[in-house]
Amino acid sequence: MMNELFNCLARICEEHAEQLADWPVVKESDPDAIRDYLSPFDFSHPRPLVDLTAQMASGLQQWNVHVPHPRYFGLFNPAASQASVAADALAALFNPQLAVWAHAPFANEVETHVLRYFARQLHYPETASVQFTSGGSEANHAAVLAALAHHFQRYLQDGLAALSRKPVMYISEEGHHSFEKIIKNVGLGLNGLRRITVDSRQQMDVEMLRRQMQEDRANGYEPFMIVATAGTTGTGAVDPLKELRTLADEAGAWLHVDAAWAGTALLVESIKQALNGIGSADSVTMDAHKWLSVSMGAGMFFCRHPQTVQAAFGLQAGYMPSQSSAEPYLTGLQWSRRFIGLKAFMTLAHLGENGIRQQMEQQLSLADLLHRSLQQRGWQVLNESPVGVVCFSHPGLRQDAALTDWLYQLTLQKGDFWLSTYSIRGVKAFRACITSTHTTEEDVEALVDFLDSTLRIKLGCV
Ligand SMILES: *Cc1c(COP(=O)(O)O)cnc(C)c1O
Repeated sequence: MMNELFNCLARICEEHAEQLADWPVVKESDPDAIRDYLSPFDFSHPRPLVDLTAQMASGLQQWNVHVPHPRYFGLFNPAASQASVAADALAALFNPQLAVWAHAPFANEVETHVLRYFARQLHYPETASVQFTSGGSEANHAAVLAALAHHFQRYLQDGLAALSRKPVMYISEEGHHSFEKIIKNVGLGLNGLRRITVDSRQQMDVEMLRRQMQEDRANGYEPFMIVATAGTTGTGAVDPLKELRTLADEAGAWLHVDAAWAGTALLVESIKQALNGIGSADSVTMDAHKWLSVSMGAGMFFCRHPQTVQAAFGLQAGYMPSQSSAEPYLTGLQWSRRFIGLKAFMTLAHLGENGIRQQMEQQLSLADLLHRSLQQRGWQVLNESPVGVVCFSHPGLRQDAALTDWLYQLTLQKGDFWLSTYSIRGVKAFRACITSTHTTEEDVEALVDFLDSTLRIKLGCV
């Protein structure tokens, strides 16, 4: 039975590898068609697992944006490594419970092993608190809770209401919107999150931040945290990390670096330089399920202050077999913990550091190719990003958001490519990032070709 099932899964994997490039990246999905497909599954009788597996694979193939596709130029969603597929199956099979070390010694050590590897890239001390999270959002949430616990003595016991000055935190206008969810959920409300303007390169304006902090202090607020983004979602900008460290020190504030996309690429020399200073942060977010090409969800949280983390998340539960205050369920938001780290470990071990580095460098060089190829055809690249995000427009489109929308919708309808749009300095631009390890030069040229020739026909300048 197992044999038959895994033969079926192996066939699905091979078909996926062989046929993926021929499938449309994106296809309009009719919810009624999907519901019709699912309606025979009323759970009234059992079904053979092999058939069921094939039916679910077929559904995923038909109604899905295929993010591993070589022509998906999307929002940081990778083609998952082969090692991830094996790791996810093993994690389900053994289903280790990582909440306490003693329940899953091997699994916990695997996670720590790979987390320490990334902590070393940050030059964090061996004592740093490290953990896997569901994703970047959860890691960012943990950072805000740790920063609050660190800054306000009464916060953990008496809550926000006991504080005499209202806490405020800072992030650039381009920073990730998970912080809006977080600030609402920690009870500070959206006014507790100050959005700081960016300069012409989309980096946080440090002078504006300094002024805003002074003004806030004068008005009775307590600045407790600065979030720097190392690789913004919209344009791939990196905030000035060293200057923000200096300012955070002057203000006695926590510095968190949200490096969800770019953090795992620190082993690439150009990224290491672009993210210079990241290791001085009090805490850092990285996502293994982005540039490391690990399946979702796999975020990572690193914090220099293990005591603060234990204070923020610690408690005593008589029914838990805990032996130390550093047990995984006492150092983060999760309780039951799935074996998230195995896919990161196996991906690194399978491809090796050099293999991963080459993969990332290849994606960066394809982003360069996209940049050059667009410019050769008279398109304009509107951003400058060290992490491979390319935002672009055309002189015939810049003033015409409706025409941009038209071309964008046509691209998605055609289904050969997926990319997004993003407004930069008032111009609605196309945004592309090479996220799939299957993307080649030919795929990049095909995207430029398609956009350019379609626009030329529309503008009547063939
Ligand atoms: C992706 C991303 C997030 C959100 O992470 P999830 O893994 O989607 O929860 C936060 N910040 C940045 C900069 C990101 O790129």
